[in-house]
Amino acid sequence: MQTDISGGEEPPSDHRLQPLKEFHSAARGYWRDVSDSDWNDWRWQLKHRITSAEQLQRFLPTLTPEEYAGAKLANHKLALAITPYFFNLIDLADENCPIRLQVVPRLAETHTAPWEMSDPCGEDSHSPVPGLVHRYPDRVLFLVTDRCASYCRYCTRSRLVSNASGYDFHPEFDKQIAYVASHPEVRDVLLSGGDPLLLSDDKLAFLLGKLRAIPHVEFLRIGTRIPIFLPQRITPELCAMLKQFHPLFMSVHANHPRELTTEARAALGRLADAGIPLGNQSVLLKNVNDDATVMKALVQKLLICRVKPYYLYQCDLIAGSAHLRASVAKGLEVMEQLRGHTTGYGVPTYVIDAPGGGGKVPINPEYVLCRNAGRVLIRNYEGKIFEYTENADGTPRCKPKKIEEPDLCKC
Ligand SMILES: *Cc1c(COP(=O)(O)O)cnc(C)c1O
Ligand code: SF4
Repeated sequence: MQTDISGGEEPPSDHRLQPLKEFHSAARGYWRDVSDSDWNDWRWQLKHRITSAEQLQRFLPTLTPEEYAGAKLANHKLALAITPYFFNLIDLADENCPIRLQVVPRLAETHTAPWEMSDPCGEDSHSPVPGLVHRYPDRVLFLVTDRCASYCRYCTRSRLVSNASGYDFHPEFDKQIAYVASHPEVRDVLLSGGDPLLLSDDKLAFLLGKLRAIPHVEFLRIGTRIPIFLPQRITPELCAMLKQFHPLFMSVHANHPRELTTEARAALGRLADAGIPLGNQSVLLKNVNDDATVMKALVQKLLICRVKPYYLYQCDLIAGSAHLRASVAKGLEVMEQLRGHTTGYGVPTYVIDAPGGGGKVPINPEYVLCRNAGRVLIRNYEGKIFEYTENADGTPRCKPKKIEEPDLCKC
């Protein structure tokens, strides 16, 4: 099916690189003649997604052979879909645009390294009933759909998302809910997928209602990239429905400051106004956000949008993701430039989801230089070194002092 491009074949002239810290509206681009009511209608956005190599070729004048070939093959692995809104954040002239890298397939996706996996976090082996992952003692991951508004090329759930590789994901809500109901230790249910906000308001309300009715379920949360890919979906009606199920938290997924447009900020504001605490989960991606300036702009803009940066993930070892993976050394370097240098609320926890089902493990730049027999040597964000001493019962032994020449041998 062809997408209408009422604005003609000429690439739009309104695609320019915006300063990182500013909020801008996504331009209308090729869709400049579409009515406001269509453009702002999430169903219109979904219906007019870019889903084929041919459409990409038409819309992206700088499409490379490597991207075309990737797009041709994409629908056998992880479907290609980009909402017109999100497509318009791509800088058409830049082959390495950080938005483009996230959603435009490349041939490199078909190269699988020996250490890469289809289920890097070992979710299927921790799944007591289909669509439910119970890894941690008191909380479960509840997968509700295999659909997303757009598809991230590095998705850790590529195996099931979009059903392109034939995983044939069919959540059985009854069984998933019955599992939660019969496990009193589960006090926290995390809805994810795929993107739960692609469900209709009614279906989502039904599901949240069923979970809320379980007495031991204290805490609900939704993981979604919809406020970033399709902010039009965050309607006042959706927010009014969601706020009936408090305490309900939401984790969104922004990787680059340019994803935080005026539209995304307004959508996040509607969610925050509905009393939903918002967190962000970013994935560290090469040439997207493996840079301290970019990451700092991202976390600062998130705070302006009332979103607390929650996790920064090392990119999972998902098959075909090598070209997007930044090193742990780079991640630590980026973290080092956040802590102390900007608002503490803006500093996420950098984690590796340990391959095979080990769960999220925090990794940090080293601030404890040594710890030994009641003496701890620490350094601050400026590299200054301090000594803190204590007795076995925790009482300080002497006044903490700054050390000019650290006597590391004594540790
Ligand atoms: C990430 C994750 C959770 C939630 O972990 P938090 O650290 O509580 O956010 C729960 N279950 C699974 C399987 C997960 O991968
Ligand atoms: S929105 Fe989430 S689930 Fe969907 S493709 Fe992106 S990372 Fe995967």
